[in-house]
Amino acid sequence: MNIADLYHSRISNPLLNTSYPLHPEDWGQYQTSGTLGFDGEEDVSFYIHIPFCPHLCSYCEYTRMLLPTKELQQQYLDTLKTDILRFKAEHPHLTLKGFDIGGGTPTALNDDCFSTLLHLYDEATNGQTLATDFEPSIESTVGMLSTTKLEAIAQHGIRRVSLGLQSTSAPLLHEHRRREATTEELALVIDHAHDAGIKKVNIDLMYGLQHQTLESLMADLDVIQHVHPEQVTLYELRTNMTRQKPTHTADWLFEAYSLLFDRLTDLGYHAQFGQNTFSVSPNDQGLSSYLRHRMLQGGCYKGFGLSAQSMSHEGVAYNKGKNLNNIAPLLASNTFEGGHTYRLPPQELCSKYIAIAGYGGRFSLRHASVLLGRDAQEYFHSQITFCLQENLLSCSKNDTLSITPKGFRHHGAVFSLFYLP
Ligand code: SF4
Repeated sequence: MNIADLYHSRISNPLLNTSYPLHPEDWGQYQTSGTLGFDGEEDVSFYIHIPFCPHLCSYCEYTRMLLPTKELQQQYLDTLKTDILRFKAEHPHLTLKGFDIGGGTPTALNDDCFSTLLHLYDEATNGQTLATDFEPSIESTVGMLSTTKLEAIAQHGIRRVSLGLQSTSAPLLHEHRRREATTEELALVIDHAHDAGIKKVNIDLMYGLQHQTLESLMADLDVIQHVHPEQVTLYELRTNMTRQKPTHTADWLFEAYSLLFDRLTDLGYHAQFGQNTFSVSPNDQGLSSYLRHRMLQGGCYKGFGLSAQSMSHEGVAYNKGKNLNNIAPLLASNTFEGGHTYRLPPQELCSKYIAIAGYGGRFSLRHASVLLGRDAQEYFHSQITFCLQENLLSCSKNDTLSITPKGFRHHGAVFSLFYLP
């Protein structure tokens, strides 16, 4: 099939988004035993996954479970500590580019356990060389972030907090088994965060939820205008890993994103059309340094915790625990390592990078070349020629390919030309 036919055959496939691979079995031939090696790496970002939540939202695609007892929370942190200290001992000379603590809802941990988590963050970073733009971040939700926890976060040197808001519509959220946060609650948390010393608050919003309307999205942005966080991240609903079916057309999603983009940029946020992160600063891309390193530069990362993902130049690995309901038996083994490891050829590593870079609406041919081990401009010659001719992508500085407004309408079809050739 030629590139044009391939593109047209993909424009109505909702599975084509930032997920890669599309199905775990696509990597079956690369699966191997043992853990993923990081030998030869110089830079890495760390990620800690805390899978616990006070409720389970129906649209959520992440590995999460209801908050267990304090004893199990503590055991979870003990297991994390074992894995982190082992990795540090085996890789003493890495430079840490970023560090995200996500989930789940890390701040849902009981106060004592949350304090243990922050000390674990200290242990993970102590003695490490930190990149000059190192900017750690932690995820939370409005009802799960006390002033005490905010102060502790800042005291441990984490100055970015990302709040999952998703929507401000109470009926819409209730339909998805989630409680809404009022504008007043949100404003108060942001004020307390700033008072505690947090420099950047990000708010996550989603579009494409079942029964969501353009009017409700505009109401979300009225709230953003009121509380004015430093960063806003837009997530298009992905249904690859959930039981939900997409309910909005590609045209509706395009219109929704366009409205959100126009309004956010009117409010003074910086972003390039097609990018999902918006920032009041033109310099930080709206991202933690973990995400900058992983999404924009294809950098390697090490994930700790239940089903956390890692990537090095050897391949990609997932820790144990995907779709687990009872965590106790796994904690008895005192490690999350040993899930699935895939030793990937360069093309697959590059595919993974391009798929995830789709969040930013662009990817770098230079970084793609590093992962491929050859010149990406030459390797992707036919895809690049087609996309530039059709005005689906534009090329800046001969290195970065960015989605155009025309391309964004079917961005999954455009980017997938580079990872499912
Ligand atoms: S969306 Fe957030 S709060 Fe809801 S289940 Fe997923 S991780 Fe938990």
